[in-house]
Amino acid sequence: MSGQTKRGITAALLDALYPPDVACALCGRETVIDERHLCASCRDSLEVAPALSAQPPFSGMTAAFRYCGSARDGIRALKYHNQVRLASFFADSIIIPHDWKIDAVIPVSLHPLKQWLRSYNQSELIAASLCQRYHISLRTDLLQRNRFTRSQTTLDTFERAKNVAKAFSASPEAKGLNILLVDDVTTTHSTLLSCAVALRASGAERMYAACATVASHSYNGRLEDSDSID
Ligand SMILES: [Zn+2]
Repeated sequence: MSGQTKRGITAALLDALYPPDVACALCGRETVIDERHLCASCRDSLEVAPALSAQPPFSGMTAAFRYCGSARDGIRALKYHNQVRLASFFADSIIIPHDWKIDAVIPVSLHPLKQWLRSYNQSELIAASLCQRYHISLRTDLLQRNRFTRSQTTLDTFERAKNVAKAFSASPEAKGLNILLVDDVTTTHSTLLSCAVALRASGAERMYAACATVASHSYNGRLEDSDSID
């Protein structure tokens, strides 16, 4: 038996003993997983997001999951515990409708200081994975967050809108582009709206939004750090 064959057999045996894909894609536990690479507990607590109605200036808005159960745990792990592998799980769960014509994907930006402290922007990681799948350009240079905003969690819809108004500015290079905004969590859409207003003021054409999760005040009675303003 050649050395190469032996190595092949050894690798096959090791794969059989320790399959590379035994860990749940969401919680990371090594257990029995299904064809989506999810354990039973994560699969059972995932809730598909309701259809979102897009209000102007948006031409379309979609989300993958409700912000609850394992989706909520996953977003928090991605955001606060460096579980960056989860970005592709959430990106793979977002379905972009065929009739959306998109020139550029822009993640909702963090304030530069916040991004420096966290070392990454979770929405950008989700957007990058989405761009790879759909072959669209990622543009992180077109939208900037100008100032820190208060945490949104204790604010009502009106206060949220006021809190993030003019928080963003857009580059004139956005002119004429159809843009997909990507966020990890949306609640009242005030952050997305603020981004869209800035981009439209710079001449962007159509605006769409895709979010990993959508939260509602009615879920679990309270929200923590949702709407990605924190
Ligand atoms: Zn799991």
